[in-house]
Amino acid sequence: MKIGILGAGIAGLGVGYCLKKAGYNNFTIFEASDKVGGLARSFKWHGFDCDLAPHRLFTDDDEVREQLLSLTPMHRLRRQSEIYIRGKWIQDPVNAIEVVMKFFPRESMRIVWHYLFRDKHPETDFESLVLNKFGKGLNEFFFKPYSEKLFGVPANQISPVWGRRKIRVGGLKDIIRRKSRLYFKEFYYPDQSGYGAITDALFTHLKDEVKLETRLVGLEKSSDSARYYCTIQNGEEVTTEYFDVLVSSLPITLLLQMLGKTLNLSFRPAILTYLLINKPCITKNHWYYIADGEHKINRVAEFKNFAVNSLPEDKTVICCEITNTEGYSVEAVINELQNIGLIDPELIIDTKVVKIPEAYPIYDLEYENQMDEIADFCADHPNLHLIGRNAQFLHQDIDEIFGSGIKIAKQLIQQNKLVEVSVT
Ligand SMILES: Cc1cc2nc3c(=O)[nH]c(=O)nc-3n(C[C@H](O)[C@H](O)[C@H](O)COP(=O)(O)OP(=O)(O)OC[C@H]3O[C@@H](n4cnc5c(N)ncnc54)[C@H](O)[C@@H]3O)c2cc1C
Repeated sequence: MKIGILGAGIAGLGVGYCLKKAGYNNFTIFEASDKVGGLARSFKWHGFDCDLAPHRLFTDDDEVREQLLSLTPMHRLRRQSEIYIRGKWIQDPVNAIEVVMKFFPRESMRIVWHYLFRDKHPETDFESLVLNKFGKGLNEFFFKPYSEKLFGVPANQISPVWGRRKIRVGGLKDIIRRKSRLYFKEFYYPDQSGYGAITDALFTHLKDEVKLETRLVGLEKSSDSARYYCTIQNGEEVTTEYFDVLVSSLPITLLLQMLGKTLNLSFRPAILTYLLINKPCITKNHWYYIADGEHKINRVAEFKNFAVNSLPEDKTVICCEITNTEGYSVEAVINELQNIGLIDPELIIDTKVVKIPEAYPIYDLEYENQMDEIADFCADHPNLHLIGRNAQFLHQDIDEIFGSGIKIAKQLIQQNKLVEVSVT
């Protein structure tokens, strides 16, 4: 049985690695780029290992943690992060007592008052979910401006599903008790080569199976058999290959479009601005959020603070993530950082811009209907498996995706008795 795997990010590489580890290797991984890693890749710049915005590994899944740690040497770091909001710095994750103290009396009284006397709303969208859980004060203070900046959609046009997944606390009481997976205190990070070391390590086991610079440009399912015919482009060369099973990590909109189904879903692009600064460090934080709506930057990462390998001592690199890209310019990013008091523009030695066309699946109000349509479509395609952030249209981290990869590989092997077939 021939398996085609589309995309060599953590999803595609994870499935390939698990298949091969189990003894099956009749599969090919097609990757459009000249590198593996997708959104979890890293690159070297001025001696620093840079990721695509802050990336860190934390997981509750023991099997995933053990497998990833056995692949890549990693160190544990104690999370160091902050939130800049209304001109002040507060801890991340939020410490309710600190918020009350720092924003006393006006904002804190407002947050507490609106929490205690909040009305119950039908939970039809993200904003109503937040109003029910936290009240108007905290919604206007943090949730509304940050979610609108991230998605570019009014909070009452964002699906409540996103809120239920992202805000895994019951309400203000749970924030005070700090009860959520979001409150992880420590995380893992590779010892060498940035976060991309994880996918690089997977690639070392899959050199024969991954075809780089090979893009899927067309896809058809044969009417007389369950086979998929993939049209693949490598440079000028265009070929067609068939597969009995397809595992895709490509954006769901692109893949289904090729199979004749148009979805009403879209992705929010991000622009990452990297700044090389002539200063040993900017802060001790791994990352910090800029929560206010009037600032365009969402998050800043400082890679030196993740690393244990030797790096240029007198310089540092930061990365600013922006999803509200309207009127974007490097100068505007620098101005914003200067206004917040983070950097002196005179100290910037070099800049670099990386664009991510599909950074965040947008959970608008159409999301649930579209997910139902995808489920119906997939029911007619039992040999098509969707995996990963953009293929499943889910804000997943790599531990969750790698975990799904283990499951898909096990399922393919068991259902089709693949390992016996490959041995005979
Ligand atoms: C800003 C940001 C911060 C994040 N922070 C974290 C974090 O802290 N921790 C964490 O674990 N995760 C984090 N994530 C999530 C994590 O990066 C992703 O979930 C994960 O890397 C997605 O892997 P994937 O394999 O599903 O998709 P991708 O990495 O997108 O891989 C898909 C691959 O398919 C290839 N491709 C696309 N079209 C074609 C085609 N037509 N033919 C062939 N190949 C094609 C692409 O080049 C790509 O390599 C973050 C993501 C973002 C955007």
